[in-house]
Amino acid sequence: MHQVLVVEDEPDIRHVLRVTLEANGYRVIEAATAARAEIEARSHKPDLLLVDLGLPDGDGLNVIRKVREFSPVPVIVLSARTLEQSKVEALDAGADDFVTKPFGARELLARIRAALRRSPRGERLSTELVIGQCRIDLAARSAARAGEEMRLTPLEYRVLETLARSAGLVVTHRQLLREAWGPDRPEDSSSLRVCIKNLRDKLEPDPRRPRFIVTEAGLGYRLRLDGR
Ligand code: CA
Repeated sequence: MHQVLVVEDEPDIRHVLRVTLEANGYRVIEAATAARAEIEARSHKPDLLLVDLGLPDGDGLNVIRKVREFSPVPVIVLSARTLEQSKVEALDAGADDFVTKPFGARELLARIRAALRRSPRGERLSTELVIGQCRIDLAARSAARAGEEMRLTPLEYRVLETLARSAGLVVTHRQLLREAWGPDRPEDSSSLRVCIKNLRDKLEPDPRRPRFIVTEAGLGYRLRLDGR
């Protein structure tokens, strides 16, 4: 049974989260402050953290940074803020994804499952990706569309691999550039856009309405393996 630490100062939201998570087979620990969150994260070693950004004794960002000093545990940010900048900061501080309040239970549970797949206790991702009619073997670097062999460039494989490692989760522009282009390359967001466009042309059933490689405006991209 996975254990989730809910870091949220509003009792009503904490209650809704507890009920939703327990009904879906998760154990729940609660923390109402940033200080408490760090203590609970250290002592209970939860499998996942849900972290509200606005806490009474500090910013949820600090919770994420503190926790990242000692744990790779998946972190999902709960944010009422619509500002893209705070989401980017949270993701760059080490959060795996975010859910914007008010959120639906289905969306939240899907994000939690995706984030847990990255954890050591979760299931392993296979190297074979199925995207619509396309099958891509990331290890063998081979791809086919409707049974016909298809060519992807080494860069396209690296971008796809980066997205696939976080399938279902948002991957920021910065993360993609660092992973696929390398840390020494200057940030080149236009090459990233071109690469994503080419991948969509090759993989998406309708590249103008992407269902699998989805844009998260101002943040990055998300690979949705279920195409929804
Ligand atoms: Ca709050």
